Amino acid sequence: MQVDVVTIFPDMVRHALDEGIIGRAVDREVVDITVRDLREYTTDRHRTVDDVPFGGGPGMVLKPEPLFRAVAAIQAERGAADAVVLMSPQGRALSHAEAARFSGMQRLIVISGRYEGVDERVVEALVTDEISIGDYVLTGGELPALVFVDAVVRLVPGVVGDRQSVAEDSFAAGVLDHPHYTRPAEFEGRAVPAVLLSGHHAEIEKWRRRERLRRTLERRPDLLERAGELEPADRAVLDELRKQQG
Ligand code: SAM
Repeated sequence: MQVDVVTIFPDMVRHALDEGIIGRAVDREVVDITVRDLREYTTDRHRTVDDVPFGGGPGMVLKPEPLFRAVAAIQAERGAADAVVLMSPQGRALSHAEAARFSGMQRLIVISGRYEGVDERVVEALVTDEISIGDYVLTGGELPALVFVDAVVRLVPGVVGDRQSVAEDSFAAGVLDHPHYTRPAEFEGRAVPAVLLSGHHAEIEKWRRRERLRRTLERRPDLLERAGELEPADRAVLDELRKQQG
């Protein structure tokens, strides 16, 4: 997968992507993530990327020309993108399902907005998907772009070593993850559930499945309403947990 992130603050994005699992995936060439400085696609002496809004009002707007040039240059170099994503609080909410959909693509261009946003003609002509990371407004699209790239890239096969861990994380199978414990077995009077120390793999798995369902029922019952694919054994556990809940 090739990802190009377009931003006016390339260092902010680069530094975050250099670290951890995503940084290692780039080093191992499982994914290619290139951060592009929008100012490189300007033509004036001052490398201007923004201008005042037509109609007046506060703030500035990212000009169309540098963004059009950036997207054209990236596609000339890489080939046509499968998606040109604009990070926007007005976009579709990022979810596991959205991240999984993008993770199956080969070439993504991600645009980080700034100021009041981008000139609407960029949205009309270039952008295929507007994606929001939540119902709040940040000062710029760099953090949203990082959230988006991380969520998408970690689902690309080979990025996270243990595929099972990704498959069992919250949302991947429609429910939340179970609680996790490590050593010591007792800490400040709090003991790890005995079953986890038993070495009995079938019982441990049963406990984990039950905890996944219990947590989801307590914290995110809306997920269970959508989880039509629950196995019969899970449905029986869920019925029992619901009865206990009253
Ligand atoms: N005027 C815009 C509005 O009210 O919809 C907000 C612009 S915001 C200050 C600047 C940029 O930050 C946006 O263009 C977008 O790229 C990014 N941004 C801010 N909040 C975001 C969110 N919740 N999800 C995705 N991107 C966001």
